[in-house]
Amino acid sequence: MSEHSLTIALSKGRIFEETLPLLAAAGIEPAENPEQSRKLIIGTNRTHIRLVIVRATDVPTYVQYGAADFGIAGKDVLTEHGGEGLYQPLDLQIARCRMMVAVPEGFDYARASQPGKRLRIATKYPDIAAGHFAAKGVHVDIIKLYGSMELAPLVGLSDAIVDLVSTGNTLKANKLQAVEHISDISSRLVVNKAALKVKYAAIQPIIDAFSHAATADDQPPNI
Ligand code: AMP
Repeated sequence: MSEHSLTIALSKGRIFEETLPLLAAAGIEPAENPEQSRKLIIGTNRTHIRLVIVRATDVPTYVQYGAADFGIAGKDVLTEHGGEGLYQPLDLQIARCRMMVAVPEGFDYARASQPGKRLRIATKYPDIAAGHFAAKGVHVDIIKLYGSMELAPLVGLSDAIVDLVSTGNTLKANKLQAVEHISDISSRLVVNKAALKVKYAAIQPIIDAFSHAATADDQPPNI
């Protein structure tokens, strides 16, 4: 694509749904819904702007290497990625949730997590989990999983999990309870640093529109 073309990396699901109004505020409408299409490159009403649909954990990588000019990724994903080569101008306040420690109902977490004790933690977020427990002085063995973390303590793979909690319904359905809040999570705009310089005139108005739409979120419409 040329200097004036823009590629935006997004993941399907909640981030895509919650990004649609931001794109609309910048005058960008996807030509197709990625939930219904198998296409990985989706055009928009703006001929020089396209979307690439990637795994949430891959968004920072596409942007870091310039395969996408910018993208939207959760703080969870960005913390694990490290943020190298990425400019993070905006917290978009979308896909909000909390990073929590959770254990089976009835598990004596206060006792098991005293300094000097050893806990087995299953998580998709090994760096976040390791940092949290190191700060508390609790020794942990981290077991890296790629999904369904909630299962791990139910079948004896781990004592606890570190995972994202939104409504809490998944924990409840699996008889788990949240015992510690690690951090609040929301999605951020991530921009390739070189692309921002070279394509500033094309990218900055979109950042401004996103910023305006994200901060106007709490306002009633048409005011
Ligand atoms: P909930 O049942 O609403 O608490 O959602 C919990 C499940 O959804 C867990 O499997 C989480 O990993 C996942 N989840 C919750 N919020 C998010 C988010 N913002 N981004 C990605 N996954 C999430």
